[in-house]
Amino acid sequence: MAEQKRDYYEVLGISRGASEDEIKKAYRKLAKANHPDLNPGDKAAEARFKEINEAYEVLSDADKKARYDQYGHAGVDPNFGAGGFGGASGFDFGDLGDIFGSFFGGGFGSQRRANPNAPQRGESIRQSVAITFEEAAFGCEKAVAVDRYEVCETCKGSGCEPGTTPEICPDCHGTGTVQVRKQTPLGVFASTGPCSRCGGKGRIIHQPCKDCYGTGMIRRRHTIETKIPAGIDDGQTISIRGQGHAGKNGGPSGDLLITITVKPHELFRREGNSVLCEAPITFAQAVLGAELEIPTIDGKVKYTLPEGTQTGTTFRLKGKGIPALNGRGRGDQYVTVYIETPRNLNKAQKEALIKFAEAVGDNNYEERKKFFKFKK
Ligand SMILES: [Zn+2]
Ligand SMILES: [Zn+2]
Repeated sequence: MAEQKRDYYEVLGISRGASEDEIKKAYRKLAKANHPDLNPGDKAAEARFKEINEAYEVLSDADKKARYDQYGHAGVDPNFGAGGFGGASGFDFGDLGDIFGSFFGGGFGSQRRANPNAPQRGESIRQSVAITFEEAAFGCEKAVAVDRYEVCETCKGSGCEPGTTPEICPDCHGTGTVQVRKQTPLGVFASTGPCSRCGGKGRIIHQPCKDCYGTGMIRRRHTIETKIPAGIDDGQTISIRGQGHAGKNGGPSGDLLITITVKPHELFRREGNSVLCEAPITFAQAVLGAELEIPTIDGKVKYTLPEGTQTGTTFRLKGKGIPALNGRGRGDQYVTVYIETPRNLNKAQKEALIKFAEAVGDNNYEERKKFFKFKK
């Protein structure tokens, strides 16, 4: 939730150093452009409008802005503890003009909520880790730096200064929601919205914890040693239980989800558990056969190239592929040879080659003859 929220400065399209005046200007412009009255039925505009208002609510308030700058969304989000905003009630439309007149009363922000004090599982964190081809093949350990919200140790997540307790909100009796009655030309509509008195939390904290500013959460950077199993492939995700954001009200932590990116290898490609590569050989080796030393992910292995090997021939090195992720066996390596044509021969070398060509003539070239003597 907090992680997926857009940055408030980004929402308003301003820089972190923006002045009060710039914040206000940006807000007015965007709020007008996305106002629901001017975009009837446009859900995307409505969502943006909410987001813009939420951002402005925080950035226009020196105290909230300071907390946001330091703690991010957790410093101001009502879902994280004290000091949040309560639905529509806190927005300041005072100087926006008449087009907002019909919008007071809190049509937005009235998302349905379960008991705000019930345990909630923490959000999962997604991270991406780049590893080498060999690390993917054989597994490795990586230190992954994770920024996550943890339960404040000082207040044990309550958000209250130690020794104090929160008050059950007298307006909503701890439910976090209240009935809103709205007079419209079509009659009176009753809807349920977040309680503005407690910001939808059901509790009011009179003496917020000084360490977490009453949020009950502290953002910390952790380095998590992660074992990446042998055989993992590009794009696969490892899930580490309980290493995501802390849960609320005693709920379990979310997970850490690590998506693996395998860096391309200079020589090898991978298909499933097979390793593929191309081996350049000389013309003489192709003709005469040769002892080759083929690079594999285990190091070099010997391979006897038979006499008369054609370009494009593929041979297999059994068991030199990627270990299976389930630990059962290994793939193979497939090596496709091609003749690397020599470049920039000197005069003597060229003469030797011409002599060779003359000596062979058109003999010993079965496929060549078939191709060039084809009639029609
Ligand atoms: Zn605390
Ligand atoms: Zn309340």
